[in-house]
Amino acid sequence: MTSAGRFAPSPSGELHVGNLRTAMLAWLFARSTGRDFLLRVEDLDRARAGAEEVQLRDLEAVGVTWDGAVVRQTDRAGLYDDVIQRLTDAGLTYECFCTRREIQEAPSAPHAPQGAYPGTCRNLSTAELEIRRASRPAAIRLRSETHEWTVADELHGPYTGIVDDFVLRRNDGVTAYNLAVVVDDAEQGVDQVVRGDDLLSSTPRQAYLASLLGLPVPEYAHVPLVLNHDGARLAKRDGAVTLGDLAAVGLSAGEVRDMILESLGLPAGPLDDALDTFDPAGLPRRPWVWNGHQQTTLRKGA
Ligand SMILES: [Zn+2]
Repeated sequence: MTSAGRFAPSPSGELHVGNLRTAMLAWLFARSTGRDFLLRVEDLDRARAGAEEVQLRDLEAVGVTWDGAVVRQTDRAGLYDDVIQRLTDAGLTYECFCTRREIQEAPSAPHAPQGAYPGTCRNLSTAELEIRRASRPAAIRLRSETHEWTVADELHGPYTGIVDDFVLRRNDGVTAYNLAVVVDDAEQGVDQVVRGDDLLSSTPRQAYLASLLGLPVPEYAHVPLVLNHDGARLAKRDGAVTLGDLAAVGLSAGEVRDMILESLGLPAGPLDDALDTFDPAGLPRRPWVWNGHQQTTLRKGA
């Protein structure tokens, strides 16, 4: 089995500097530990025509290279279906007919933490199931046997979070992220997951699912996000944030790469050269605030 890290973008549009920074970090974590680096396109949802091609080009432009062929989740439906069937055969799934609103309005179950699915459909009788099936398609949920799980994170230390009866397949038939990511990482030999820390809270669910399936749990490092000047997660609406936008205001991909490296306390230059000084223990633990025009002007004037 290979030992690998990965970057797994959703092809919903162009990558912005926050996405590129996370990709560069994932690459540095993997390469500095002698791992392969894989690229997986998470296109089960929100895929936009042509976006993947631009994303791959932009990753290469900042020095993020990968091993082997790019994997696409839409090519892997059989893998996800098999795992859901295995869980179902073991009595570990059930059908859920709740709307989002019904879940929000349901009284939470005793002992269930805030934000957890309240278990409304966990024990429907055969008769109730038949009535609900006639009214709307079902989502498939995991019949979880715990309320929380603890993972080890290289930057956050031990992290304990909610494990509820989370969705494995949505009621529109799309495989849920929490299932696909677990299946893909295990199947691809990914034993190191580096991604934005907005995903930390869902990690206990994924580690628990991996354990249920007898799959190895990867090492995790959830890295700080890039924020806009209002303190919100950087988004396309925050002005010039993609390599395309920044090229239009006079910044080359190499200059953007250098700005990202400097934000990480690493020397400017080719990404390969940063491997010598890269040390996870020395990474900034706070988000990087992207000041848009001001930042790019300062950089150009330096
Ligand atoms: Zn339900």
